[in-house]
Amino acid sequence: MTGDHDHHHGHHHGHHHGHHHGHDHGDGMSHLTETELRVRSLESLLVDKGLVDPAALDALVETYETRVGPRNGARVVARAWTEPEFRDWLLRDATAAIHSMGYTGRQGEHMTVVENTGQVHNMVVCTLCSCYPWPVLGLPPVWYKSAPYRARAVRDPRGVLAEFGTVLPDGVAVRVWDSTAEMRYLVLPQRPAGTDGWDAGRLADIVTRNSMIGVERDLDTDRVAADGEGA
Ligand code: FE
Repeated sequence: MTGDHDHHHGHHHGHHHGHHHGHDHGDGMSHLTETELRVRSLESLLVDKGLVDPAALDALVETYETRVGPRNGARVVARAWTEPEFRDWLLRDATAAIHSMGYTGRQGEHMTVVENTGQVHNMVVCTLCSCYPWPVLGLPPVWYKSAPYRARAVRDPRGVLAEFGTVLPDGVAVRVWDSTAEMRYLVLPQRPAGTDGWDAGRLADIVTRNSMIGVERDLDTDRVAADGEGA
């Protein structure tokens, strides 16, 4: 993967797009942007000088990856479940609806929300690197950036889902959405039965990061808020 990122993705949903990368390659320093190089240099300098503990940095990243980041997306989902007009807006113009809640920023400029139904399950990947909707999900988990997930999500989505413990009922179709620099996806999971009368705050607590990536489907109503979903 050298200079040419303008290639076509070889799978079935058939759109072709230029994939402009300025981020997160993970395949060598040569692909890092100037900002990323500066961040890395700064990090190694701070660690070398003993000013920063790398474990503390890892803990920070972990926190943003599993706790802080995905809570924004969970609040978007919970609001869509409780306010039909907001849900309609979200499905029609996710970028505007999400921005209206204050979740803006890099990698969130162009958003699409895809809704799970009784007939359709949605799952998100970036086949080329790790495009991910930072303002609503935080940092991508390691597995999302891994080559096996990126390759297999498209080729064998049901196999990947099974590894996450997600078995789709018969008759449920899988749609795989390939994120790009131009468009990021968020899955709107189905509201679980038995949550009538719950307010948005309580509902948000049961929405997992993985359900918004689409590797989980059924939400657990006994889940207690905001701990890591595991990587
Ligand atoms: Fe990407």
